[in-house]
Amino acid sequence: MRKIVLLLTSLCLLATLGAEADGLAKGWKVGVARRVITPKQSMWMAGFAVRNHPSEGTLHDLWAKALVLEDEEGKQAVLVTTDLLGIPKGISDRIRNRLYTDHKLSKAQIILNSSHTHSGPVLSDALFDIYPLDAEQIARVNQYSRFLEDQIVALVGEALRKTEPARIYAENGVTRFQVNRRNNNAAVLPRLTELQGPNDYAVPVLKVENEWGELKAVAFGYACHPTVLNGYQWSGDYVGFAQIELEKAHPGVTALFFQGTGADQNPLPRNTIPLAQQYGRELAAAVDRVLQEPMHVLPARLSTAYSEIELPLTAHPDKEGYAKIAKEVTTDYQKRWANRMVSKLQQGETMPKTYPYPVQVWHLGDLPLVTLGGEVVVEYAIKLKQIFGPSTFVMGYSNDVMAYIPSSTILREGGYEGESSQMVYGLPSTWESTIETMILYEAVRLARQAGVPTP
Ligand SMILES: [Zn+2]
Repeated sequence: MRKIVLLLTSLCLLATLGAEADGLAKGWKVGVARRVITPKQSMWMAGFAVRNHPSEGTLHDLWAKALVLEDEEGKQAVLVTTDLLGIPKGISDRIRNRLYTDHKLSKAQIILNSSHTHSGPVLSDALFDIYPLDAEQIARVNQYSRFLEDQIVALVGEALRKTEPARIYAENGVTRFQVNRRNNNAAVLPRLTELQGPNDYAVPVLKVENEWGELKAVAFGYACHPTVLNGYQWSGDYVGFAQIELEKAHPGVTALFFQGTGADQNPLPRNTIPLAQQYGRELAAAVDRVLQEPMHVLPARLSTAYSEIELPLTAHPDKEGYAKIAKEVTTDYQKRWANRMVSKLQQGETMPKTYPYPVQVWHLGDLPLVTLGGEVVVEYAIKLKQIFGPSTFVMGYSNDVMAYIPSSTILREGGYEGESSQMVYGLPSTWESTIETMILYEAVRLARQAGVPTP
């Protein structure tokens, strides 16, 4: 009996020593919370201009989820993930201002990421030209947007109240169902023997365990459009299925998805629910493999940096120029955009010459984490990883989704991501060729501010 007691004591001592070595004794605290944000009534769905009527039911629920991280000195940050196309500036600013008022969380400490599912609701002041909304539909959009803001503010408050001691681990997995949609023809995909890049196959994974070593939350990402589904039922697309799979495999665990720089990456082939399920399972399997292998322990230190830089737009056409575009374009939404630009100029409105673009860096333990606003193309993740190292986590679609963010190469080439998508987002003209350099430069500046080792 005495031997057993001694053994137990030494085991406890070992466990304590182990916990201290992992930084748990004075380590991270983590809080998790989640809310269903599926609209309660039929509404217009975001993402495809071809839809011609509002939603019809739910395939699975849409979620907003929050992960609050607190380091050993009490410095906090929160990652909010959402099954939404993109959170526009107006809503994002209101949420972040309220979080500052209520909890003194600054913009640097908050990431609002949207998964970019194309089976979620339209939000206020976003992509208006591409949807033929009547007054009733606009009222529903505004009502839902206010509900969403309240839900996200409440969600973060709940996660802050629920923090408990934790260990955090990071590692990158891999999966490859996404295809560079600019450089491969989807129509002949089955006949292609070689797919062209660039791509980012990484599946970044953050694992959170409580003080007893039980899995509590998993935040994971991928760089690929959730555009498998284009029907009329609410869903998170493959991203929704991936979260469901992980939560089914690990009961009681919250799985949070963050979108990477997947603006030029599509899940191919696509268009069926079983395909969305398949990609969801593939992504969940990639995350599960990482969870089963040894992962890098993150020291309980956190620093955050954030700024908005004025990204320049090219000179816009005059009234006659927009009128000419309105005559030439073939799609309804492009006509609506060009005519709206004509009437803006007729009313004497000044078009913006720049856009306040959000860039953010977290130094999470020793992990660099970079977030960018907008629909960011994959070259940004590739270049940021060249600068900060291959384990870096990169998120697009964060804090504001105002446009596509093309690379210098794509701006030169044009096409949808480089040019015509500006009409979808209602911007007056294309981006200047300098934006890539400006964004990468700002990421490096913020990284230095957050203490990330930089070249
Ligand atoms: Zn998109």
